[in-house]
Amino acid sequence: MIEEVMPGIYRIEVPLPDETLKTVNSYLLKGKERDLLVDTGMNKKECWEALLSALRELGTSPEKIDIFITHIHHDHFGLAMPLASKEATIYLNARDAEFLKDLRVPGKELVYARLNGFPVDEVQKAMWQRDEFIKTTSLEELKKALPGSAGDDVPQSKRFHFLRDRDILNIGEYSFECLMTPGHSSGHLCLYEARHKILFSGDHILEDITPAVFLWPGDKRNPLKEYLNSLDRVMELEVEAVLPGHRKVFQDYRERISELKEHHYYRKEEMASFLDANGKNAYQIASKASWNIPLPWEQFPPHLKWMALAETLAHLKYMEENKQVKSELRDGVMVYYRS
Ligand SMILES: [Zn+2]
Repeated sequence: MIEEVMPGIYRIEVPLPDETLKTVNSYLLKGKERDLLVDTGMNKKECWEALLSALRELGTSPEKIDIFITHIHHDHFGLAMPLASKEATIYLNARDAEFLKDLRVPGKELVYARLNGFPVDEVQKAMWQRDEFIKTTSLEELKKALPGSAGDDVPQSKRFHFLRDRDILNIGEYSFECLMTPGHSSGHLCLYEARHKILFSGDHILEDITPAVFLWPGDKRNPLKEYLNSLDRVMELEVEAVLPGHRKVFQDYRERISELKEHHYYRKEEMASFLDANGKNAYQIASKASWNIPLPWEQFPPHLKWMALAETLAHLKYMEENKQVKSELRDGVMVYYRS
């Protein structure tokens, strides 16, 4: 499905086979010499065919496009490298790419599982999405191109252009400012066009889906705090059309931001309510929380339990830094209790 959402900007709905999200948005922006594609879909045959036929219909082809990636999740980034021609530039943020460097540190997941009470025999099964991502993405090429330190004056490779906050991308009559909006991923970028009041929101703000916020193994950040700050940042913008990573274009972003903040407030309060003086580990807390999955916890497939654990840890980290909860290592397992 193709829809012209603004003059010269087309939303292409790319199917996501076997994914609960069903579809992802890829946007084509027509330029003078080269066009720009925002996000791509997964590295799967169905995505590839849908995207190529849409590009053809819009009078362009991979040879004519550069690619901008809002964040390096498989549904947005998966086709970027297979699709990019020799002349193409792939614009992405260095912080997300840096995260991929550590993706294959052996044993990191096991340490994280043990520390948080996750059943160790389910770790392998929980990892299938990550394994699939590694298998289908040319990570080696990306890793070679990565700057030594993210964010500074980095040498850009021919193929990858690592973007920083407030960098400008000009395409056609539009001039977009890159806005670092970490939270859903560590280097998530939105694109803002102040003159036309357009925001490409990636998965930072979606209209009817709540973007997940995770704390993954080895991550020292406070992703929920970053996410809430990134919501505040967007709240201050003047926007007439939000072009999201999934579903339709929408307008009421301020109301939506308030809902998302409320969601995380109640989620953290719910998790806090399970805590007592004795303490519980993150897996025990995750198993009690209300998830938007129509199954009892025992029947969650391992990868959903793993994501629920990572989301629980993001909330626990936030509460711990706010002195709402305390943690303590007991027999090799981190337990949380009310402070
Ligand atoms: Zn997504």
